[in-house]
Amino acid sequence: MDRVAAGDGEGDRGDPVVPLSSALGKVPSGALEAELDAWRTRFAQVVGVCRDAFIEIDSDARVTEWNQRATDVLGWERHEVIGRLATETFLREEYVRSTFHSVGRTYRELLHQMGRGIDLHGGQEVELVHKDGHMVVATGSVFVSSYGDDFRIGGFVHDLTEEKAAEEALAHAYLHDSLTGLPNRSMFSYRLAYAVAKARGVPDSVAVVLLDLDRFKSINDSMGHEVGDGILVTVADRLRASDGVAEVIARFGGDEFLVLFECGESSAEEVAVAFAERALQALAAPFPVERGEVFLTASVGIATTTESVNEATTLLSNAEAAMYQAKQRGGSSVEVFGEAMRIEVLDRMTTEHSLYRALERSELMLYYQPVVEINGSGAVGVEALIRWQHPEQGLVAPYRFIPVAEESGLIIPIGAWVLEEACHQLRDWQHGGRTGPTSSVEVNLSARQIDHPEIVETVERILSTTGLPPANLTLEITESALMRDAASALDVLRALKGIGVSLAIDDFGTGYSSLSYLQRFPLDVLKVDKSFVDELGVSPEGSEIVAAVINLAHALGLRVVAEGVETEQQLEVLQQLQCDFAQGYLFSRPVPASELVGDPRFSIGA
Ligand code: C2E
Ligand code: MG
Ligand code: MG
Repeated sequence: MDRVAAGDGEGDRGDPVVPLSSALGKVPSGALEAELDAWRTRFAQVVGVCRDAFIEIDSDARVTEWNQRATDVLGWERHEVIGRLATETFLREEYVRSTFHSVGRTYRELLHQMGRGIDLHGGQEVELVHKDGHMVVATGSVFVSSYGDDFRIGGFVHDLTEEKAAEEALAHAYLHDSLTGLPNRSMFSYRLAYAVAKARGVPDSVAVVLLDLDRFKSINDSMGHEVGDGILVTVADRLRASDGVAEVIARFGGDEFLVLFECGESSAEEVAVAFAERALQALAAPFPVERGEVFLTASVGIATTTESVNEATTLLSNAEAAMYQAKQRGGSSVEVFGEAMRIEVLDRMTTEHSLYRALERSELMLYYQPVVEINGSGAVGVEALIRWQHPEQGLVAPYRFIPVAEESGLIIPIGAWVLEEACHQLRDWQHGGRTGPTSSVEVNLSARQIDHPEIVETVERILSTTGLPPANLTLEITESALMRDAASALDVLRALKGIGVSLAIDDFGTGYSSLSYLQRFPLDVLKVDKSFVDELGVSPEGSEIVAAVINLAHALGLRVVAEGVETEQQLEVLQQLQCDFAQGYLFSRPVPASELVGDPRFSIGA
């Protein structure tokens, strides 16, 4: 703390303590008294108006000065402290000793050393005791003034309580989620990094639990964000209540929550799995909302430290991979990241990596499968189906790489390529001058593509560069992709319809259609999923389901395509049920464009 010499500073600047008498010099005694009175008054005024607390003690540590602000900050009235020991009132002796232990063994020794000029630095935080017992954190500057052998230690004390509280509130806001009050992503990352460093590679000592609510987006969209927010707050409460020993429960953003377990020895996985199961149970209870109840489930991924995994980022991405796996299982389940998953993740990464190159290296190609008229003679169109001619693995089917392309975003350039290639191909056939399948090409769009803000422009651009009339293009979107976010899909479908293309709902029956949306989507074609066609002729119920779907589609004014027709028997039933079109191995497998050319059944000219 700053040491200031009392007096006007005319003394030796090398000696910081200047006796008052020498500062005043030789003055006649009456005048001296008057001068001293004036000084005292000025001193009292200055100290009285000072915005910091002013406290002075003598060499016995008894309080000699105490201003109004000191009363405000520390609660003691002036008359309660003057003449009393500092350590009986606003200072804890142990605190002084522990803070200044290097200076003197006892508090008195310390005072006397200060009187002799011990240097204390300013700006240091001190802890004082309020009259009611609570601690007051303050900064201060101290000066020592000497009166012959006696001395005083005075200090200006600046109360930091409010500043500290403001600082803490700011830090809290920065590290916590404002909606649920849980620690946020920054706080979690910091705590995780710390836990992992502390664990020093002990396997199964740290676990990360990532919990993602299933289908939360549709609740948010259908009931509004306020209801969604209320549900998130309840989820946070239920997670807190399910916990026994978690280090941190955090909101990672959106509908994702993260929980950290630090177990020291090898039991983190067990503890985390037990928590996850309790959490799923807690979430299973209905969530009351204004107009009824909402039911929620969640997908949970768990990752723990192993001999090779001891980095925060790897733990997080492993937990994410496990959560993703739980989602793929249909949600409402817990998955622990393990060896099989590690291989799968590696596999995905390798696929993603080589898929980047596949486009530039022209390894992607389209096969075409005719769509035939059930009561007619030939094909009415073709569906374009992507294949990957992998340099090592040979021909790769879409199920092995389309999900990876969707997840990585590569589906955007790949999808645009498919569209362009298919439109080109049909244009080429049309220029060959034949009718039949040359009237229409069907191209599959993934969910990620219809979510993309430029989808409509992309389709328009490709139609115009290839010169294909929009009426010759049908875009297929799966039922699950459409219903996932039906409201925004509706806007996109309307815009696409505005260009003049036809629209088909693909794999119908595998998702959960909202009938009201089905009616509002501007669709032209409904494709009955192969799994229903497989049941035709096997059981009477199988036929009844397909009959119902066909009737529904016709009632909505849609044409119906049966997918995956493999047998004559299936075709017969479809004929009886008045299905319009069929597609399947019975007619042709998907084949390269060149193989369709010249096939009289499909009337594509050579
Ligand atoms: P999809 O659009 O429902 O295509 C029909 C799938 O059923 C094709 O599989 C086709 O080869 C197969 N199939 C057709 N008839 C039969 C049959 O009689 N028996 C059997 N067992 N299968 C039959 P593929 O070509 O493997 O495509 C699978 C899925 O991959 C497609 O299902 C589609 O969802 C997706 N896909 C294919 N190409 C693309 C594409 O260019 N873009 C996008 N986003 N997805 C594509
Ligand atoms: Mg399709
Ligand atoms: Mg399909």
